[in-house]
Amino acid sequence: MMKMTELANKKVLVVGLGKSGFSVCRFLHSQSIAFDVVDEGLKDADVDKLNVFAPQANCSHEFTETLFCQYEILIMSPGIALSHSAVQSALQKGAQAIGDIELFAYAVDAPVLAVTGSNGKSTVVAWLQAVLESAGVSAVACGNIGLPALDALQSGIDIYVVELSSFQLETTNSLKLLSASVLNVSEDHMNRYQDLEHYAATKRRIYRHAELAVCNAHDERTHVLATDESQAVSLTPPRILFAVDSVTQGDVGTRDYAGQTWLQWGEKRIMPVCELPLPGLHNCENAQAVLAMLSPLSLSAETLKAGLLSFKGLPHRTQFVHESQGVRWFNDSKGTNIDACCRAIEAMQAPVVLIAGGQGKDADFSQLGPVVQEHVKAIVLIGEDADVLNQALQDFAQITKAKTMLDAVTQAMRIATAGDVVLLSPACASFDMFDSFEHRGDVFVEAVMKVAA
Ligand code: ADP
Repeated sequence: MMKMTELANKKVLVVGLGKSGFSVCRFLHSQSIAFDVVDEGLKDADVDKLNVFAPQANCSHEFTETLFCQYEILIMSPGIALSHSAVQSALQKGAQAIGDIELFAYAVDAPVLAVTGSNGKSTVVAWLQAVLESAGVSAVACGNIGLPALDALQSGIDIYVVELSSFQLETTNSLKLLSASVLNVSEDHMNRYQDLEHYAATKRRIYRHAELAVCNAHDERTHVLATDESQAVSLTPPRILFAVDSVTQGDVGTRDYAGQTWLQWGEKRIMPVCELPLPGLHNCENAQAVLAMLSPLSLSAETLKAGLLSFKGLPHRTQFVHESQGVRWFNDSKGTNIDACCRAIEAMQAPVVLIAGGQGKDADFSQLGPVVQEHVKAIVLIGEDADVLNQALQDFAQITKAKTMLDAVTQAMRIATAGDVVLLSPACASFDMFDSFEHRGDVFVEAVMKVAA
């Protein structure tokens, strides 16, 4: 593992000056490590912000081989692919690419739990934090969830709970973890990976230095594989499996008692699934992952139950917004891929009018067909790839198109009748029409309040 003192003697380039890029700059500055910055869309305002604390850093917007090859360490923003030609040229000349999480690994001095997966990461991370806090353990949730991990470093923290994307894992090599989970693997980001297995193997890098692996019993791609390149450096960690439908010795699952399904952890009965504060089977899985991730702490069943109940859920994830005239409105703006959208639809347990669309990331939307056919009475499509979704889904539901979110909500309002749910779960990224999934969700809620309240 590289040490901070070694970094100080190298030529360091921070690649990408977004939120995490800024956290890297602040951290390097705090460690007296010199660096330069490159960002294709560099803004004057960002340069000014950087100059306040690091006036000596050279800022460039030139993504060129000539520039990159002058550096020995590239600290990559997760948004920039390692396959970029300028990055590849520098790597071939012997440069090393790391990310903000690798720097965090060098610096952190408390136990770390980390979660990755295609869906459910933020929910599990926030839920872990809630359970820990309710048990009197001081915990901070950071990483891909929003607060950059390097900005979260502070004294007095008992445990760090880190959300990691596959992009971050590409540039993370030495993060030691008390427990780690790949929650699930489903198609996403196919514009950045060769295939699903390549994407899954990148996620499994999280197990590299983990003392405990928490894996999804029904998703073998989440299991630690002895053949993974990432396992070559460490022994295969012990594992706990979670499963929504059964339980095996020592694992987390469910068991029926007197006609009621309970969350079960080995021989420990935790609580009835129907009392979980978040809807849907996917959230039962998320709760199970939380329990399994916390097993090294040996918390009691009562403490775990109280902790699980203390969580109110995150906005934009199958979040109840409003009910009027018997129609319930849900915001699942964070449903940015096919599996998330399917799980959100299933969680509604009612006929669904679906608002979907945006940037499709080259996904195969025909996979939505069966769930749409079973639960969705109509779809209102928005965004750049509306035609792609229309093509894939026209045989499964009535489809209309809308130019704006307000238009989509107005159309959905016209279609829905008492007992229906209107669900925004786009199965797509938001950046064609919005700044972020949060912005998209906020605009949806605003439109619902205008049209349906
Ligand atoms: P992530 O951080 O991985 O994007 P979130 O917790 O923010 O995950 O949830 C995003 C969306 O994924 C939710 O809005 C919901 O539609 C869906 N989802 C949540 N948990 C799961 C799960 N365990 N399996 C499948 N889909 C899920």
